[in-house]
Amino acid sequence: MAREKRKWHPLFLKYMEEIIKDHHYEGLPIEKKRDGTYGWIVFSDSEIGRKRVEWCARKADELGIEKKPGFYAEVMREIHPTKWKVCQTCGEIMSIYYHYPNMNFLNAINREFHSDFTDCDYIYDIWDELVESGVDEEEVARFFIRKGKLDLDAKTASKSDIIETLEKLCRKGNKKLLGPGAMSNFPDRFDGFHTYNRCCRANQDTGRSKENLKSYSKDRRAYEYWSDGNIHAANKFMCSDYFDGTSADHIGPISLGFVHDPRYLQPMPSGDNSSKRDRLSVEDIEKIIEVEKRTGVYPMSWYSKLIWEYIRKNYRQHPELVATKYRDALKQNMSNFMFVLFTILDRCGEKGKAFLKKAFLEPKYDCFNYSYCFNERGEIVSKTPRRFTGRMNDEEKRYHRIAIDAVHDYQEKDNRNNNYYLVPSEQHLLLKICDKISAGTTPTRECKYSVERLMEFIQRRVIEGMGENY
Ligand SMILES: [Zn+2]
Repeated sequence: MAREKRKWHPLFLKYMEEIIKDHHYEGLPIEKKRDGTYGWIVFSDSEIGRKRVEWCARKADELGIEKKPGFYAEVMREIHPTKWKVCQTCGEIMSIYYHYPNMNFLNAINREFHSDFTDCDYIYDIWDELVESGVDEEEVARFFIRKGKLDLDAKTASKSDIIETLEKLCRKGNKKLLGPGAMSNFPDRFDGFHTYNRCCRANQDTGRSKENLKSYSKDRRAYEYWSDGNIHAANKFMCSDYFDGTSADHIGPISLGFVHDPRYLQPMPSGDNSSKRDRLSVEDIEKIIEVEKRTGVYPMSWYSKLIWEYIRKNYRQHPELVATKYRDALKQNMSNFMFVLFTILDRCGEKGKAFLKKAFLEPKYDCFNYSYCFNERGEIVSKTPRRFTGRMNDEEKRYHRIAIDAVHDYQEKDNRNNNYYLVPSEQHLLLKICDKISAGTTPTRECKYSVERLMEFIQRRVIEGMGENY
């Protein structure tokens, strides 16, 4: 630990000192070591980690912050004396709020204003620099309001009105245009934030070129959600000429469980993609039903099938529920599914990983074995076997790695995703499945069947929950 600390940036050491002695953190446990340094980092399941959690819960009560998922982050942001955090690696200071453009928004800004900002530029600086470079401030305001679909008037709203409205929406998980300068990490870090900032994100693969980054993110999300559909064909169709000058958009958002399949893709004006993401409309549902009728390709991934069936049966009587209750039920079920996967990985270790791979990922490998030709509706008009190359094997490995990593990431995310909910009987069943997988004596297909049954129970309960409130 001491050796590691010596590498830390002097400005970060100074920052730690100031935070530790700041009165807002009074009573928050931290170990003072014999050499006079402090144990800034602890494991969350250590004694100090647990005491930090208790402290934070009391603080939440004091501040009147509701203790729902993500409240640690809210408390630690609320009490932070300066709202700026020093990066442990490079010493750069960044805002702890969602004040930095994420990739899609950044690209949209740079395209619109022919600028060259990066995702580490402070959003206020971006605004000011645009105005200084001669762009009419009202035009900047209009652009931000349009991108964020904010309910503000460009003629009257101030710069801070606009940015802070957008910041809050992003922080609460309703939009993804902006990201934080430092991710939350409580109780592991004393101040509640990762030691490195956005500028030095640990997982940042610095060897990646901009171009790689683009293709890298295209298919990634479908792997992350364990989406059904012909995922390889969808990836290929997304990269086809058909989407030149636009971006490919899922008619049914994959974050709600819809499939990643070329037949369910549509062009969307470039840069607009991020805004749709996990919304659902009656129009979408009717398009989806039309595509299914025409192509016979099922629109929903297996784990949310029953909820989809329910929505399809009921959306005409209750169109007003599509964007709210129905969409929320799918979102909720995604969280539940991710929690089920996480529990299996967490409790069964390598055996859990091997099981999930064999039961749910390998069956999808087959689509990687072909090359496809499409018509403009994404229908596959021909497919030819690909000659087996190392490349294909890499694709499968990458698919596997992204899917497994995503399950861990989903649990660690700040707030927006972590609202899974299993009733005791479902939890009990899940633990029984984990025991079976760990024991290693039950065939994979039997364990798989149990997981499928569990997801059915969960969905039925989610559906019942929707019915009650009519
Ligand atoms: Zn840094």
